[in-house]
Amino acid sequence: MSSPDVQVSRGRIAGRIAWLLSAAGHPGSFRTWSLVANDGIIATAGILEGFAGAGATHATLVTAATSATIAGMLSAGGSQWAEVAAEREAQLSVAEEEAALIARQPEAELAELVAYYEARGLDSPLAKEVAERLMARDALNAQLETEHGILEVKTRADVALAGIGSAIAYALGAIVPLLITLTVPVRVEAPAIVLSALVSLTLTSIIGARTGHMNLLRTLMRTLFVGISTLGISYLLGRLIF
Ligand SMILES: [Zn+2]
Repeated sequence: MSSPDVQVSRGRIAGRIAWLLSAAGHPGSFRTWSLVANDGIIATAGILEGFAGAGATHATLVTAATSATIAGMLSAGGSQWAEVAAEREAQLSVAEEEAALIARQPEAELAELVAYYEARGLDSPLAKEVAERLMARDALNAQLETEHGILEVKTRADVALAGIGSAIAYALGAIVPLLITLTVPVRVEAPAIVLSALVSLTLTSIIGARTGHMNLLRTLMRTLFVGISTLGISYLLGRLIF
């Protein structure tokens, strides 16, 4: 039997994990992350194709793959973190402005909401009733949602998860060409990277389409088109220029 203390902390950990999974399991997150993983595959494989086209040695290819993976992972995580942090900042400033307006001129804010529902097709008495009820329940949320399209203000945890999740997703993608570089002999490097990139892009497309409500065939065509042209152009430029 575990003590109540242990049970409490277990409950807390389980709660944290459940929260993280529900945030991570958001369809939007998976769609984003499958795209970031594609980025990791395509950018790393593209850089390697350029080096391979230029006739780089095994040691150079390994160095290129490793630094491309690390730099790409940090840059993908960092830019996603910065983007969501900026979004949260903008949402907080809008929320502050709206809260001040609601305090200063509640009638005008109510009128805004009534006009919004009238414009969406409700007749005036019904629009007024809906607006009044929403304002009574949570005036700020009602204003943020209708006027600014903000359903939920991003939390600090959302910001952190966006950065960490993107860095991990990028690394998971980039590790595919990196592993190929480490294991495959240098003379078959270029075709092996192309093949592994196509297989892994197909996998991320399936995951992205399944979890993100996207059409599989169109997702796959888009991804493979971007992947094949990037690798092809990089290889050719490597051959021609160096
Ligand atoms: Zn307003």
